[in-house]
Amino acid sequence: MVDLHTHSTASDGKLSPAELMRHAKAMGVEVIALTDHDTLSGLTEASEEAARIGIELIPGIEISAENDPGSLHMLGYFVDPSNAELVETLAWLRGGREDRNYIILTKLAELDCPLDWDEVASLAGGESMGRPHIATAMVNRGYVSSFKDAFDRYLGKGAAAYTDRDKMTAEIAIERIRTAGGVSVLAHPQTLSLTDDELSDLLGRLSSAGLAGVEAFYYSHSEEETALYTSLARKYDLIVTGGSDFHGPGLVETGLGVGRGNMDIPKSVADDLRELHQKSSPR
Ligand code: AMP
Ligand code: ZN
Ligand code: FE
Ligand code: FE
Repeated sequence: MVDLHTHSTASDGKLSPAELMRHAKAMGVEVIALTDHDTLSGLTEASEEAARIGIELIPGIEISAENDPGSLHMLGYFVDPSNAELVETLAWLRGGREDRNYIILTKLAELDCPLDWDEVASLAGGESMGRPHIATAMVNRGYVSSFKDAFDRYLGKGAAAYTDRDKMTAEIAIERIRTAGGVSVLAHPQTLSLTDDELSDLLGRLSSAGLAGVEAFYYSHSEEETALYTSLARKYDLIVTGGSDFHGPGLVETGLGVGRGNMDIPKSVADDLRELHQKSSPR
């Protein structure tokens, strides 16, 4: 199996980078990409463990970019973690998270759901604190009945304590990934909440800006959606990729490599991605 979209404790996943590699090995995943939100800090540990136990790790990142009405996430694969522009951009994004988290906690306090900063920060542990950590803290305090309830009533787009944060355009995200030697892939097109025609137009625009692929296989995509995204990828000469968006057992209901249990990501997606990267990086 292959899985090109996963998270660790470096962002909002539950397993440490090394634990994630061991879980992948146990599940029969042979190629895994670690794509934490706005941070590359899990990659060193992940690559050491992957080499030790004998699975292939593709280094990655997931960057949130501006979009309405849904959310647009850009995956970047094979980025150079020492690239100064990318490092600076990611630090700026994490600063935006900190400002936003502070505002969310202020709003939650006004809504009779006070949380301490340290309580949420200790749940986050890593560099990239996000709404899932706040949701978990709310469950722990008994303010909400579940993680999903926290998003539905308080943290999701349009809910009571929702707060936006500084983001860049998708075109700039693609440019930063390219400058760092990486390959850009549009994550889970379903969450953009666009019509088929709007999505087609967006893919046309982004492929002119250097987009290389589309995440056609994703845990919440239906077979019809996967087929549609695959045909749009062909139309714009983009590769397709796939991943589960695994965040650890129980955090978001999706299993490593298999999503809701029935995902069948072709192994060729990893070969296509590797090949594209090799072609685009002259040596
Ligand atoms: P953040 O990075 O802080 O903006 O949080 C984004 C993460 O929160 C996503 O990767 C999901 O894991 C989670 N998330 C966002 N919206 C929802 C939702 N409506 N229900 C459950 N989880 C969500
Ligand atoms: Zn996440
Ligand atoms: Fe995402
Ligand atoms: Fe993700």
